[in-house]
Amino acid sequence: MTGLTLRLDAARWRMHLQTVAGATPGLVPVAKGNGYGYGLRRLALEADTLGVDTIAVGTADEVAEVRDVFGGSIVILTPWRPGDELATELAEDPRIITTVSRVADLEALTDLNSDPRVLLEVLTSMCRHGIFPDELRRVRPHLEHVRFEGWTIHLPLLDDGRYAEAERLGRAALEAAQGTLWFSHLPPEDVIAVGRQLGGAGSAAVPTRLRLGTRLWLGDPSSRASTATVLDVHRVKRGQRTGYRQRPVWADGWILVIAGGTSHGIGMEAPTPASSVRQRAISVATGSLAAAGRALSPYTVNGKKRWFLEPPHMQSSLVFLPSKETPPAVGEEVPVELRLTTATADRIIED
Ligand SMILES: *Cc1c(COP(=O)(O)O)cnc(C)c1O
Repeated sequence: MTGLTLRLDAARWRMHLQTVAGATPGLVPVAKGNGYGYGLRRLALEADTLGVDTIAVGTADEVAEVRDVFGGSIVILTPWRPGDELATELAEDPRIITTVSRVADLEALTDLNSDPRVLLEVLTSMCRHGIFPDELRRVRPHLEHVRFEGWTIHLPLLDDGRYAEAERLGRAALEAAQGTLWFSHLPPEDVIAVGRQLGGAGSAAVPTRLRLGTRLWLGDPSSRASTATVLDVHRVKRGQRTGYRQRPVWADGWILVIAGGTSHGIGMEAPTPASSVRQRAISVATGSLAAAGRALSPYTVNGKKRWFLEPPHMQSSLVFLPSKETPPAVGEEVPVELRLTTATADRIIED
């Protein structure tokens, strides 16, 4: 079978999941979007096996994919809005925890639903969703009409000032109403420390939970390997026009047609700050490569990442190999680096 293959060393993966779960009190695994490359159902199953009592999905639509395999509570991370019929219906379900990020929405939801389980979102420096810290007290009159599950605080990824923000917002939230603090993007030890600090000297720690997606599911790269099938190999001459764009090739060599394209998320990787800095440095150093609009592909051939000949097609990519190299045979599998938050393989094989 040709295509993009993701091999999962399941035993190794599960060991990693257990290690993270063991070090993260109050862990809430996040299973959303493309399921971090593994699919929502698989993640929900693993979360069930881990024995956690709660998972989080991104949207109301995703609930259906996880609810049969995960037995506990399910948080919907996207805040509830009036007019969303599915989310409103789900808010009636005792297994569902609905996120609410505006005071008016809390009022509207309590008009429609009796006793929904609700998490209230606090606006952080992310400026995505949430109630302004100085408006948090306005939720109070509505809390008697909900099962209040706590406050959710979604922090930016930067380390700088994160702990201070978690503490400041946690304090503001608890002043408005006592409840569990649900964090993301904070190291487990910081979550525990914030809980202790906000509990105050001599008192019990404030209950906390920590949502984890990327670091849980993708935190052990050695548990997976991905490959792509070489679909075709063509010898080309320097200056020969090739590809959709009919641009001249920059040197003698080979065009490798390799499985994996935009439909898999190839070439659409979310840039990481580290790689873009490095990439920029490389572009400055080499000048011509950036000027020629060349992009490094995620495919490794003969031990090296190779350049795209042009942007990836829907299901395959054209990659250039210099003439001094021996090209792979058609049908061979070559390593491909998949950023699993944006890429999806054709098949996952558990070893
Ligand atoms: C996606 C998401 C997470 C998980 O983020 P990772 O970076 O994958 O750990 C946690 N909390 C919220 C609110 C999210 O939307």
